[in-house]
Amino acid sequence: MARSLSHITASQLISIARNPRVAIVDVRDEERSYDAHIAGSLHFASDTFSERMPDLLQAVKGKDTLVFHCALSKVRGPSCARMFADYLSEMKEDAGINKVMILERGFNGWHGSGRPVCRCTAIPCTGECT
Ligand SMILES: [Zn+2]
Repeated sequence: MARSLSHITASQLISIARNPRVAIVDVRDEERSYDAHIAGSLHFASDTFSERMPDLLQAVKGKDTLVFHCALSKVRGPSCARMFADYLSEMKEDAGINKVMILERGFNGWHGSGRPVCRCTAIPCTGECT
């Protein structure tokens, strides 16, 4: 079954981000290291994304909703989300992921509208700081 991608706004994401079944996947490249990030987000850079999809699958065990974003969610975010949705639909087993979403306007939109960001250097982000 092919999964369709849907979009989510920053305010919708705020309301579901604390749900333990939701994972936020940041696919920005090196800018994540000097820019802030959304608390609790996973980091799978777009330049190595295709090789790291099995690792991402491990990292999101038990999640049912994935929200992808890059800086603007125009190119890297949607293309990685598409790649991962196709990867899921090619698998024989159901990974339990029902929704693959894209954060509208990306990290810049999130940050620019004053949403909380995290500046920790932990890998993965613990999500405890804001
Ligand atoms: Zn952090």
